[in-house]
Amino acid sequence: MGDTDFDDEETGRIPVAKLILGLRAQGIRDARVLKAIETVPRALFVEETYSDLAYADRSLPIDCGQTISQPFVVAYMTELLRLGDRDKVLEIGTGSGYQAAVLAKLCRRVYTIERYRTLHRQAETRFKELGIANITAMVGDGIKGWPAQAPFDKIIVTAAAETVPPDLVDQLKEGGIMILPVGPVGGVQVLRRIVRTEAGVEDTELLGVRFVPLVPGKAAQL
Ligand code: SAH
Repeated sequence: MGDTDFDDEETGRIPVAKLILGLRAQGIRDARVLKAIETVPRALFVEETYSDLAYADRSLPIDCGQTISQPFVVAYMTELLRLGDRDKVLEIGTGSGYQAAVLAKLCRRVYTIERYRTLHRQAETRFKELGIANITAMVGDGIKGWPAQAPFDKIIVTAAAETVPPDLVDQLKEGGIMILPVGPVGGVQVLRRIVRTEAGVEDTELLGVRFVPLVPGKAAQL
């Protein structure tokens, strides 16, 4: 079967080349984004138990009851950011660190915020292992953004907000783009693109998605 041509028959693992073909088939066109997904080893960002599924196009559980996003969603959101080499980018929801590592290949510097210390530490270890030097990570409440580093060229939120956080809009440069899922926990969430303009904001609804919720405040433990 054509479908199994790309599988490694000895390990049953799905190779990254197959993932890239799948992303292309789903409409991801930006060669730089596809290259970044191809080169960041997602296997390093998932738990050992799921290593066979590291290059499957699906979200997977990580510690603290959170998830690493589906590669298609990572690619789609990254493409929408239209990253430039000089961009300063803010990510809310470090999680495994995978999305941040993909962004780091495509822009000057990534600032990423996570509310669980455990996830923050694991992500930092991975960045070090991979020799990624242009990510600055912190533990905190991403709903407030990172005022000391603002403004940002681009902002990406990888957890679903009930409403668009006003502090994040404030921390976006004029002409800047923010991509975020908005909607209730477990309900219908829609990916939105907010572009800050001279006159205010442009707000576009893009795609139905399912993310873990954006929760206010630092996590009490872990
Ligand atoms: N980008 C991540 C996806 C992680 S899931 C990856 O590539 O793996 C979303 C993450 O957002 C979770 O780890 C969750 O703890 C975090 N999160 C939720 N609310 C937050 C908040 N207010 N501030 C910072 N992080 C938050």
